[in-house]
Amino acid sequence: MKDYLLRGTSIDGGIRFFSCVTTQLVEDARKLHDCYPVAAAALGRMLTAASMMGTMLKSDKDSLTLQINGKGPAGAVVVISDNSGNVRGYIHNPHVETVLKPSGKLDVGNAVGYDGNLTVIKDLGLKEPYVGQIPIVSGEIGDDLTVYFANSEQIPTSVGLGVLINTDGSVKAAGGFIIQVMPGVDDDTISAIEYKLARMRSITEMVDSGASPEGIIKEILGDIEVSIHEKKEIGYVCNCTVERIERALISIGENDLLDIIENDEGAELTCHFCNKKYRFDKDELIAMLERAKSGQ
Ligand SMILES: [Zn+2]
Repeated sequence: MKDYLLRGTSIDGGIRFFSCVTTQLVEDARKLHDCYPVAAAALGRMLTAASMMGTMLKSDKDSLTLQINGKGPAGAVVVISDNSGNVRGYIHNPHVETVLKPSGKLDVGNAVGYDGNLTVIKDLGLKEPYVGQIPIVSGEIGDDLTVYFANSEQIPTSVGLGVLINTDGSVKAAGGFIIQVMPGVDDDTISAIEYKLARMRSITEMVDSGASPEGIIKEILGDIEVSIHEKKEIGYVCNCTVERIERALISIGENDLLDIIENDEGAELTCHFCNKKYRFDKDELIAMLERAKSGQ
C-alpha cells in the first residue's frame, strides 16, 4: 500500500491531528542518499514530520523547511515540504556510525547532537519568510518539535515520529503523528489523551504491526469522535528543474561564473535532494552570464 497521510479534527474542532505512514517514502530517501541506519532514522523522522507540517500550509505555493543541526556526527539534516505533504531532504553525513541506546534502539539524539538549534522556516509568499527556532532539547526530533510548537507557536502539541530499520539496513516501518489541543478543550478530554499518550505503543511498533494512519489516531484518541478533513498519498518528490539549477549557478555571481567559463570546459551541478546531475557547457554558461549581466 502507498504511504498516505490523514489530517482532521475532533468533531467539536478542539483537537487537531495529523498521522501518516511513511515506510516507502523513508525507504526511497534511504536508498537515494545511501543512509546507514541512524542516518536513515534521523532523516526519516525529519521527512515524516515535514510531510505533516507541510499540510498545515494554506497555499500550494507555500513551502516549509525543517532544519536540525546539533553538531553531532550526522551533521545538519534539512528537509522541505510543500502543502501536499510531498517531501525531499538530505543529511550531511549519511554514513554516520550506528550507536545504540541501552534499550537497543538507534540513538538518533547522539547522531544529531545536542549543541544547536531546530529551525522551522515557512515561505508563505510574503516579503520575509516566517522563521521559528528553538535550542535542541534531545535531538530525537519528536521531542524537539513538541517544544517548538509549545514555545514558538504557543500550541500544546504532542509529536510522535518513528523509523524502524531491518537487519539488512532497509526501512521496515516508519510513520508519525501530531496531536494539537486548541484553546477551550475541557480538562477531561486533555487528561484522557495524555493518559493514552503515556501508555500507548511506540509509533514504530504500531506501524510495524500494520497500523494505518486511521489506526494510529484511534489508538491515541480512543472514543473521541473525529472528522477526517484530508486523506492523501505522500512521497519523496524532488521538483528540481534545469531553470532552478541555472538560477543557483547565476546566484554565485558574475565573477565566479566568468572564472568557470575561462578555466573549465563547463560546469556540473548535483541536486542535493535527488542527486540528479546537471551539466552546462561553455556556450550555455556564456549565455547565462549574459543573462546575469542584463539582470534577467
Ligand atoms: Zn532534485
